Amino acid sequence: MADTHPRFAWFDGRLVPWEEARIHVYSPAVKYGTGVFEGLRGYWNEAEREMYVFRLREHLERLAFGIKVMRFDVIPDLAALERAVLEVVRANGFREGVHIRLSALLDGTGEMHAVGPVLFACTANTRPPTRALSEGLAAGVVSWRRPEDAAMPMRVKANANYQNGRLAVHEAKANGYGAGILLNSAGKVAEGPGMCLFMVRGGVAVTPSITSGILESITRDAVIRLLREELGVTVEEREVDRSELYAADEVFFCGTAWEVTPVTSVDRLPVGDGAVGALTRRLQSLYFAVAKGESALHPEWRTPVYATASARAAE
Ligand code: PMP
Repeated sequence: MADTHPRFAWFDGRLVPWEEARIHVYSPAVKYGTGVFEGLRGYWNEAEREMYVFRLREHLERLAFGIKVMRFDVIPDLAALERAVLEVVRANGFREGVHIRLSALLDGTGEMHAVGPVLFACTANTRPPTRALSEGLAAGVVSWRRPEDAAMPMRVKANANYQNGRLAVHEAKANGYGAGILLNSAGKVAEGPGMCLFMVRGGVAVTPSITSGILESITRDAVIRLLREELGVTVEEREVDRSELYAADEVFFCGTAWEVTPVTSVDRLPVGDGAVGALTRRLQSLYFAVAKGESALHPEWRTPVYATASARAAE
């Protein structure tokens, strides 16, 4: 993206012009990457002229979990943060899909072990769909390993954890892949740098368990439920070997940013016949229908942005 940006950000309790959402170079957030964050999406429903934030409550709860595990000295006001998310989308008047970032950052002048003060910030940006969504992409296992839970809690969305993913992305790109796959310290498949992984084999969907060094992904949870409850597919959460990916009929990534993205080859070996898998396609269209509110399923997963504002104004 060029240096265009939305008009407003939400920063430390209020909406501010985008340029003013800044944090000091001496803050622990800058010095040590001391922060936790959430990536969320808002889906635009053209027929209803409404934006739906996907699984907002679950993202807020995961942020609160991260704040607890990283021992930040604050009990987050989730209702206020929920309003912040809706406000920043509304203030910018978005009428297309957005990616939202909600952060809890350590401000002040503290050192490595600082626990506060905690500064909350939220931004929303448009994000057009990728080509990989329809065409799929080539993935490759990278040499970087996902740190084990005994080293860093990777189930927390801590900013500093993303240096591991960053190196994985660079290696994958240097090797000509569209995405990297990380193994964990036991040599089993973990996930991608910012997304979880599923494979389908003999009609059964399989994904690494939450003790595999992965983030406890909200999309992964949604995908498991849609597969089981709506598509009648058995889902196994278990250890996955690298070479099982070579035997899979279908592979896909999932996550807030990646949505449901097909993988058509792993380590240059075609997945199945090398085309996007049929179940991946069905799941993808169901996922988008639910996220956008074009399906009536799981209304509790959608928080309307603009209707919520009119309802509040009418109170
Ligand atoms: N794994 C990692 C490492 C991630 O950063 C993300 C993105 N948050 C995911 C998986 C997917 O998680 P979610 O579905 O909650 O976005």
